[in-house]
Amino acid sequence: MTVPRSHALVIGAGLAGLAAADALVGETGGSERRVTVVEPSGRVGGVLGTVHREGWLVERSADCFLAARAEAVSLVKRLALDAELIGVEPRARRALVWHAGRGVPAPAGFRLMAPGRVDGILTTALLSPLGRARLLWERFVPACRPASGDDDESLESFAVRRLGREAFDRLVQPLASGIWTADPARLSMAAACGDFLAMERECGSLWAGERVRLRRQAGVSEASGARYGQFVTLASGMETLPLRFAEDLRSRGVRFVTGSVSTLERTNDGRWQVAGAGLDDATATADTVVIATPAPVASGMLPRLDRSLADDLAAIDYAGSCIVSLGFARDRVAHPLDAAGMVVPRVAGRRILAVSFSSSKFPGRAPPGCVLMRVFIGGALDREAMDLSDDALVELALSEVGQLLGARGEPKLTRVERWNHAMPQYHVGHVARVARIETAISRHPGLAVAGAAYTGVGIPQVIASGQAAARRCLGSV
Ligand SMILES: Cc1cc2nc3c(=O)[nH]c(=O)nc-3n(C[C@H](O)[C@H](O)[C@H](O)COP(=O)(O)OP(=O)(O)OC[C@H]3O[C@@H](n4cnc5c(N)ncnc54)[C@H](O)[C@@H]3O)c2cc1C
Repeated sequence: MTVPRSHALVIGAGLAGLAAADALVGETGGSERRVTVVEPSGRVGGVLGTVHREGWLVERSADCFLAARAEAVSLVKRLALDAELIGVEPRARRALVWHAGRGVPAPAGFRLMAPGRVDGILTTALLSPLGRARLLWERFVPACRPASGDDDESLESFAVRRLGREAFDRLVQPLASGIWTADPARLSMAAACGDFLAMERECGSLWAGERVRLRRQAGVSEASGARYGQFVTLASGMETLPLRFAEDLRSRGVRFVTGSVSTLERTNDGRWQVAGAGLDDATATADTVVIATPAPVASGMLPRLDRSLADDLAAIDYAGSCIVSLGFARDRVAHPLDAAGMVVPRVAGRRILAVSFSSSKFPGRAPPGCVLMRVFIGGALDREAMDLSDDALVELALSEVGQLLGARGEPKLTRVERWNHAMPQYHVGHVARVARIETAISRHPGLAVAGAAYTGVGIPQVIASGQAAARRCLGSV
């Protein structure tokens, strides 16, 4: 008599869901368990997407990922995509910060909030003499626990306390907003920047902590300290990764169903019953379930199963942003575009967060004789930007790149991407909330959550979260 194979259901075909399906199907080609991925959009990759048009390659969201963590690079290799891996062009391995009417390079050796080199700080035009002195004083600022008494603190409070208000306003805030599009007064150090927090606690200062890190990483070249040398992408665009991943999963027996899950309940025999649109009988019952959707969607599935778990999931806030991609003939842009991009401090009073110089970062993003840039607008501190019409967003982006980069005339390409509620916000207290979510989930064997909402928004972290969710599910049934 053959024992029926168990059924594992993954809800959501973003990278987290694909990584969970991969771990669930394992090496056995699905002989141990049947794996189904349910996704409403009819495509894979979630927010990841690449548009190819007349020689332009435009990323809809993420345009690269950190190679320093193993998860994404080893996946790329396993999918035989390693020949596609390309790093940031050497001349673009630095960030510019808008200051006093021009783009000024971030100080040499400065990494988000860790001062790496004295000469970089002494010579930066971004800070006043007093601001530079205060930043150099960082090594003497005593380590202290945040006033709230718990183990968390906002990025703004931490950076101002350690580096001074001026370095925060002119340097840390714009660099951080280019990554998280978050409100720094609410962004949790413990959740988003645990490594910097650890430097203070273990080494006494960011300065000392960065010295230790650099000694460990001796030999790794860092032009501006912004680690651009460690970012990579795929020559044919980021969407190749989920497309190839899904192809590999299909070849190993994973089934993809176009449908949407709305509720999840326990059956009397301890299995899981899902309901929603487009689900057939073979999909609707499962032994293990990984929910790899944004947290508010996961929350909506669970109130009947566990009200407090649903409430904690619903409490994870999201912000949106818009990306206006603009392509110009090279001779229409005065700026040399000799960086990865330019970030704009809030104190500058402008309405854009950053401009990424896409065709400077990676080859093959624009036709010969042209340049491509992506202008970021919105984020947690400008939620109203999402209400602007496409025409208004393009007009705003054109006016800003005209003033910041000397871009003139009609662009050859314009494209607007709206990412409504797409960026999870790790507010102060996020780590404790995720711990509560994990404790609650552990009361429901065979259930796990995965994705950008929990332990890291970067692509490698999201892959790791899918893998960990699958392991948790398998360990608990
Ligand atoms: C604009 C932008 C730029 C970014 N840039 C970078 C970058 O340069 N580098 C980097 O490392 N990271 C970047 N990120 C972050 C990274 O891309 C994301 O964190 C990651 O791709 C999220 O993957 P995910 O699987 O968690 O979620 P998602 O990609 O959101 O996938 C969730 C999936 O769940 C599906 N779903 C929703 N509801 C249901 C339902 N009811 N039933 C079934 N399925 C459902 C959705 O359709 C979607 O496919 C960026 C993100 C954004 C938005």
